[in-house]
Amino acid sequence: MTLSIYDTLSRTVKALSSTKSITSMYCCGPTVYRDAHVGNLRTFILSDLIRRTIEISGGTVRLIQNITDVGHMSEDVVGEDKMLSQAAAEKKDPFDIARMYEARFHKDLGLLNVIVADEYPRASESIDLMITMITDLIAKGFAYVGSDNSIYFDAQAFESYGQISGNRLDALKPGHRYEYSDEGGKRFHADWALWKSAGPRTEMVWDSPWGTGFPGWHIECSAMSMEFLNNHVDLHVGGIDLRFPHHENERAQSNASIDSETVDLWVHGEHLLFEGRKMSKSSGNVVLLSDVIARGLDPLALRLCFLENRFRAQMDLTWESIESADTTLSKWRKKMAQWGDSPKKLVDQEFLNSLEKDLDTPRALQRIRAVEKTDEISDADKRAIFMYADEVLALNLSRREISKNISVEQERLLSARLTARKEKRWGDSDALRAELESTGLEINDSADGQEWSWR
Ligand code: AMP
Ligand code: ZN
Repeated sequence: MTLSIYDTLSRTVKALSSTKSITSMYCCGPTVYRDAHVGNLRTFILSDLIRRTIEISGGTVRLIQNITDVGHMSEDVVGEDKMLSQAAAEKKDPFDIARMYEARFHKDLGLLNVIVADEYPRASESIDLMITMITDLIAKGFAYVGSDNSIYFDAQAFESYGQISGNRLDALKPGHRYEYSDEGGKRFHADWALWKSAGPRTEMVWDSPWGTGFPGWHIECSAMSMEFLNNHVDLHVGGIDLRFPHHENERAQSNASIDSETVDLWVHGEHLLFEGRKMSKSSGNVVLLSDVIARGLDPLALRLCFLENRFRAQMDLTWESIESADTTLSKWRKKMAQWGDSPKKLVDQEFLNSLEKDLDTPRALQRIRAVEKTDEISDADKRAIFMYADEVLALNLSRREISKNISVEQERLLSARLTARKEKRWGDSDALRAELESTGLEINDSADGQEWSWR
């Protein structure tokens, strides 16, 4: 069997072509004007899970993930490039901002055991590729010079526009949110800028056959995916918000330039909410990986939380769920140590089948829990199955747990329990023990107080 996964374009669970020796993957990368939040990380981990599922059965993947460091316009302020507004806010050069957040993005991916992509092309260093592609699109009649000297894609020239998102051109009303109001020189409301004339802008601009300017966000991904994956993408990954207009426009550009379908499978991960709400700067609830670590939690606990949910379902992340995943990780690593120290791996078909059927990670984890609990599998084999599963789960299950610091809250509970015992409030002491145990600690009372260890 090979991987089948839900394809947004055909709206079916579609099998990945199994005849390919190398699967080409493209995952839309971060816009590096800020740290990636845990929602962004969910989408990047989705791409890693797909990659690892292909590779566990002997496949090979070539993964490209772009770095958007120019041209992604703000949704809030008309005509503002996210990079330039952040550079102004931090009083830094926009390229310094880009390199700083790009480095932090790589650090986060490393902490989450995401396998490094083959290339991370930067939009700002791919300008020539975009100019070549835009020139070609103009020559083929898919793009035109607008009245403001920006270059626009002619949406009506691309017959199957709207197939990914289901948005039909005649149903897209002028004045719709997607219609950037700084794109004043276009002929038709659904057209979009491939190259924007610089106007008064002086930073992050380049020369082009159409004068000084900068690229539109959508053309970046077309140009980079086509160049680095040789005009064909087997699997294209991104968050659900990118379905329209980003991927709709990317598909039109790429297909128009080579007159064939460039992407076999469009995979979109659903969004992540935090404690029931959309993460946003204005609500002050944006959670970063560094926040998880600051609470004394293993960054891989976040990865486990994502695995507990289907990628196509919206997910609500909570501190409680990350804490509980952290406890599970410690428990599994402890069991792995009890089960021996062999590096042997044992293929588990049930685990693999769950993943290959539309990446059913909750079912795959259910299987892991069943293996953990059963008496019918020897300890050595349990360890070998966990070793195998960890090729995809990437939770460092064979890592020996080193003593881990306790959190401030656990410290508070321990001290409250000590006081309760001194005051012979045995009911309180028992309740506090239960609370401490639920956080992953084991409590033993001794002559001179209490001792704790990680369970
Ligand atoms: P950005 O850096 O904003 O360009 O986004 C990088 C990736 O994260 C894209 O694939 C987005 O679709 C995805 N993304 C953004 N917000 C969320 C979220 N709340 N949950 C999951 N993925 C997200
Ligand atoms: Zn993209």
